[in-house]
Amino acid sequence: MQCELCGKDIRGKSHRVIIEGTELNVCDECARYGHEVKQIPKVTAKISGITFRTRSRRRPDIFDQMGDELLPDYGGVIRRARESHGMSHEELALKIREKASLLKKIERGDLRPEDDVRKKLERVLGITLTEKIE
Ligand SMILES: [Zn+2]
Repeated sequence: MQCELCGKDIRGKSHRVIIEGTELNVCDECARYGHEVKQIPKVTAKISGITFRTRSRRRPDIFDQMGDELLPDYGGVIRRARESHGMSHEELALKIREKASLLKKIERGDLRPEDDVRKKLERVLGITLTEKIE
């Protein structure tokens, strides 16, 4: 590397100075003619950790608040579970203290069960009628 001011080979450390508004790499000798430039390390602030924190999530936060979602085939799941327990609509309705007609509607998929009804069905039939939204 050569001194950009006098052209001599720089031995050892070069100096980065400003001489008359120009930034130059100069030798020890010429360094005193200018103002030394402080080497400021480039700022590499890590904002990526914050910005991309949610990248692994497949859906935005708003879906998280919905929590569990009723299975699309909840009616079929209930019917099969009820039949495997050998229960009629009336018997199951009695166990969960709801009307058999309500149960039939739910099994047909005509009616989405309220949370309390759903929980009773899950408990009595030993099934899960919701799936976790991811
Ligand atoms: Zn020089």
